[in-house]
Order: sequence, then structure tokens, then C-alpha cells
Amino acid sequence: MTGTRLAWFRRDLRIHDNPMLAEAAKGGAVAALFVFDARLLRGARASANRNAFLLASLSKLAATLAERGVPLHVTTGDPAAIVPHVAAEAGAESVHVSRDYSPFARARDAAVSEALAGNGITLTSHPGTLISEPGDVTKRDGGPYSVFTPFYRRWQATNRRKPVDLLAQLDGLAIPGYETALPDPGQPGFQPTAEALPTAGETAARGRLDRWLDGGIAHYEDERNFLAAGGTSRLSADLHFGLLSPLEVAARSEATTAASAGFLAQLAWRDFYHHVLWHFSHVVSEPFNRKYAALEWRDAPGDLDAWKAGETGYPIVDAAMRELLATGYMHNRARMITASFLTKHLLIDWREGEAHFLRHLVDGDIANNNGGWQWAASTGTDAAPYFRVFNPVRQGQRFDADGDYVRTWLPALANVPARAMHSPWEMTPDEQQAARCIIGRDYPAPMVDHAEARQRALAHYGDTRPGR
Ligand SMILES: Cc1cc2nc3c(=O)[nH]c(=O)nc-3n(C[C@H](O)[C@H](O)[C@H](O)COP(=O)(O)OP(=O)(O)OC[C@H]3O[C@@H](n4cnc5c(N)ncnc54)[C@H](O)[C@@H]3O)c2cc1C
Repeated sequence: MTGTRLAWFRRDLRIHDNPMLAEAAKGGAVAALFVFDARLLRGARASANRNAFLLASLSKLAATLAERGVPLHVTTGDPAAIVPHVAAEAGAESVHVSRDYSPFARARDAAVSEALAGNGITLTSHPGTLISEPGDVTKRDGGPYSVFTPFYRRWQATNRRKPVDLLAQLDGLAIPGYETALPDPGQPGFQPTAEALPTAGETAARGRLDRWLDGGIAHYEDERNFLAAGGTSRLSADLHFGLLSPLEVAARSEATTAASAGFLAQLAWRDFYHHVLWHFSHVVSEPFNRKYAALEWRDAPGDLDAWKAGETGYPIVDAAMRELLATGYMHNRARMITASFLTKHLLIDWREGEAHFLRHLVDGDIANNNGGWQWAASTGTDAAPYFRVFNPVRQGQRFDADGDYVRTWLPALANVPARAMHSPWEMTPDEQQAARCIIGRDYPAPMVDHAEARQRALAHYGDTRPGR
């Protein structure tokens, strides 16, 4: 039997298939810790929606661990100071974490590791956040992939670790002075701006997964792009906070139905963007394709505000932006349309859109959000070619043909007939009257003309195209 080990939870708030917890439990006793990092709580990338979901999920984790005899210690501050202190108080020989991939997380872990080493304590990181680790999915020459399709082929052929068994009763250690002290959910930074968040915690997430595997997954390929269909899993926040093990989600969906191939590919995109972030960390602030660093974006705060508020005059864009504000979620197809609109129609810097999404999304995730934005802006790995400018009218007609999605989020258009839903400005004055939707009064006219905006984007991107 070895000595006490400290399990430091971060984005792995579960007891099922948690290699970090399993390893920590191999010692004589296990102490459990979560640190609210003040920089994450209040920093530029902070989100009250995410903080609220995290806090509620932590409280569920604390209860689950307590049932197994392990008190969860929760505190706020700088991990580089707190983790070594708690480890020393616990008399821990080692600290265990699930691997994290952003430059911020890597710098944090390096600082903690260095501080621990001063006391002769090791920091050991474990898989559990992704299905495959960076370094496991590489090209023949050992280099990283920057195009998804060959990555995906290799990813599918890569051996996976075995899920770890569920731990029953553990030998938990209480550290005096660090009893569970969850922050008060009423304090600033924790009050969600969304009207309702998903039910927090591992048990609720497992319920969502069970229901998805019993039903929705079978129709995923047919329905995933239709905005009002509810045809996707809605597991993104659960995966972001590690309420679910992505390895378990993949294994169970493979076992469920042959129709899960498309769903697995999305889980592979999640791995892909985390690998990209790991290998090409400059993407957090710069275009992946550095040639696009020369692209000059418009400084147009009024246009940016109209986009954020869902007042562009394009119903599919506006409905999506309202969905984000109201729920902290946006459908993937809508994320692509709104991101394309901001970067191509308005020529506003993708980093503005990325930051707005991160502020509101409950699933807001540096790797996936950055990957999605750089894809839409055509600056990223495997990006949409720059001449691909989504037509918001056609996208709406194709993926919200009945107008149900728009009607849900834009009550001003509730009585507009489906055929005019995605270009209401084309209604005659009589039709506008009949629909009680006068353009310019009840709903804005389009802020840019699609054909003109497209030409402007092509000229702009063409001028700064790589190789020119
Ligand atoms: C501009 C833009 C920003 C985005 N920002 C985020 C973000 O902050 N956080 C986030 O988790 N996803 C982000 N995505 C990816 C995707 O839109 C969401 O993961 C998806 O809409 C979540 O809904 P779901 O769980 O029902 O997805 P499903 O379709 O059921 O997919 C299952 C899971 O696969 C992963 N996934 C799906 N699509 C992608 C993708 N394109 N890239 C990476 N992973 C994917 C997610 O973990 C998701 O939960 C973004 C996409 C775009 C275009």
C-alpha cells in the first residue's frame, strides 16, 4: 500500500471512467480537491452561464463522492499556491489530474508541478478528457495532422485505452480547514444570463446520454442539420465539463447502432480541435494560417452590436443569436451561419465572435470554439475555402423550410408565411400588413445586401489570399 494521493478535479467532474480518480485511489487514501481559479471566474473568457453550470455540477460531484466516503475540498484562488499547500496538508505523495490542452492550462500545470516538486511531490496527468491523446494520432513522420479527413482515418485505426471500472467505496481523507466551501451561487459571476440551463451533474448527463442512445442517435444523419428538429445529442456541455467520458460515449454509441458513424465523426472533430490546440497553440490568438494575419478586419462596433443582439435583418442569423442569448446554446448549423455572417458579410474579426460565443455558451470550449470560428473565417486548419460565403436566405430555406426555428426565437415574425420567412423584406406592403410585420418597424431591413457583401468579402479575402 502506498501513501495518500490527491485527486485534483478540473474538467472531469465524474466518477465513471475517470482514470485520474482511479489512479489517485490506488494509494493508501484519496483526498479530493477542486480549485476555482479566480482568473477563470473573472477573466476575459469567463461566462456566468458556464460558471453556474459548473458550480451546480460540482455540488452534485461533492454529494456523489461523499456517498463513497470522499469529501471534496473546494476553494478559490491560484492553483500554484493552493494545490501544493493542500497536498502538503494531506501528506500526499502525488497529485493526479486529467490532461488539459490549452496554453493557459499547460502554463498553470507547469507552475503547479514546479511548486510541488519543491516539496518532493509529483504531478501526474492522465487521459480522460479526450478519446485519443495528441501524440497518439500522428502522421507517418510523427507530425500532427492539420486536415480532418486523414486525421479521422488514423484516429479510427488508433488503439484506445480501456475504460476504468467504477469505483465503489474509497478511503477518503478529510483535510481540516479545506472542507467543501462552494462559492455562493448568488455572487457576481455565477448568475446565468440564460433563462434556463441544462440540469447539472453527472447523473443528469448520464440520463441525457441514455436517452440519446435509445432514440435520437438513430436519426442523427438525417436530422442533425435541421434547426428545429432537435436532432443532435445536446451533450456538448456534459463533454466540456467531463460529466461524461468521451471514451464511454464513443464506445456506447458504437455498440448501439450502425447509424452512429456520423455521430462518432463529431466526437473525432472534438479530439481533432484539441490536438490542433495542443500542437499549434498560436491559434488561441492568431489565425492558424499565418498568411491571414495580414487580413484587415472592419472596426464597426454598431454592426457588431446588431449581430450580437440578433438585429441583422436576416431571420436565420437573428433567430440563432437570440437562441444563444436565451439558452446559452446554439445549433451547430446556426453557429456556422452566424460565424460566416460576421466574418464574411460584415468582415468583422472572428476573435470578436469567438469571445461573444465564449461569454454565453454553456459548452463554450477554447478548442472547439476556436476551431469552429477559424473554420468559418477560412483562417483555420481544414477551413472552409474563403470563397464559401453562406447565403443566409438559402441556408434558412434549406434548414428551416417551415420557419419553425425562426418563429421560436423571433416573435415579430410569428405570422409571416413560411415562403417569406427567410426574406421577409420581399413581402408586399399588404403582405407585411397581414403578417403584422412591417419591415423597418417590427423587424429590421437587412443590414447588408447579400450579393454585395459576398463580392466585398471575395475581393477582401482574395487580396490577402495565401500565396499572393
Ligand atoms: C463557430 C462555431 C463555434 C463552436 N463553438 C463550440 C464550443 O464552444 N464548444 C463546443 O463543444 N462545440 C462548439 N462548436 C461545435 C458544435 O457546434 C457543437 O459542439 C454542437 O453544436 C453541440 O451540440 P450537440 O452536443 O448537440 O452536438 P452533436 O452534433 O450531438 O455532436 C456530439 C458532440 O461532438 C462534438 N462536436 C460536434 N460538432 C463539433 C465540431 N464541429 N467541432 C468540435 N466538436 C464537435 C461536441 O462535443 C458535441 O457535443 C462550434 C462550432 C462552430 C461552427
